[in-house]
Amino acid sequence: MELRTAKYIEALKSCKLCGHRCEVDRLAGETGICETKAEIRISSFGPHYGEEPELVGRFGSGTIFFTGCNLHCDFCQNSDISQPGARGVKIDADGLVKIMLDLQKKGCHNINWVSPTHLVPILLPALENARKEGLTIPLVYNTGGYDSLETLKMLDGWVEIYMPDAKYGDSAMARKYSGAPEYWEINRAALLEMYRQVGDLYIEDDVAVRGLLVRHLVLPNDVASSMEVFKFIAEEVSINTYINIMDQYRPSHLAEKHAEINRHLTMDEYKTAVILADGFKLHRGFTNYW
Ligand code: SF4
Repeated sequence: MELRTAKYIEALKSCKLCGHRCEVDRLAGETGICETKAEIRISSFGPHYGEEPELVGRFGSGTIFFTGCNLHCDFCQNSDISQPGARGVKIDADGLVKIMLDLQKKGCHNINWVSPTHLVPILLPALENARKEGLTIPLVYNTGGYDSLETLKMLDGWVEIYMPDAKYGDSAMARKYSGAPEYWEINRAALLEMYRQVGDLYIEDDVAVRGLLVRHLVLPNDVASSMEVFKFIAEEVSINTYINIMDQYRPSHLAEKHAEINRHLTMDEYKTAVILADGFKLHRGFTNYW
């Protein structure tokens, strides 16, 4: 256990946790593009009923919103807690263990780490301790999908449900709107690795137990290149991938910088995306929109 902890922490000395690969020494106080220190900060936690029905079940998904993010999307829907300047509350590993065990006690069906990428080496020892102290519900790794393969290898065996975004099927768009170079290449590799680890989403008694659940937020004017995303998932990941095609885009944060995304999504744009996914024979996660 201690050996593994040391190995995890070592990763912070030259941080390559995400696609930015800043190689800064976060243990020495340096910060990279995520502008976060090597400490756990949370914005909120509790049973959450706004996630996918298979995560919420009857008693909610036990979400823990970590402060900060490795992506800087101009249309960020959570900028108050995720973008530079957000402070959150600092907790230590024991505090995180207690929160996870309390969420389980409340009946939550899973522990849902929201935006954990920049903190993985610090979170994993807490997860190990929580498992030792009786945490049995699945861990959901809820990420923007810009995780490095090194990070995903660290998580192998610890995550039951991967819930990555597939934000863009075009890296030029990702660079422009999220400041994330090579997002599409990194995201594809990440999805394949996640799928290798956990497979298709497995649901028991209407509640997700294990597997991959992909989120795709449709953007106005097809800025997300939805067809590329669906094509890749259907042809290279799995036709049985559970994919939540999301329609709730609204212009927020810095979206007004870009006229093409400075408006709500139209119903026609959303329907077009769903028809595309259906055309690739994807069939899980969005069929209730028909
Ligand atoms: S988590 Fe990503 S953005 Fe943050 S320092 Fe590490 S490589 Fe850079």
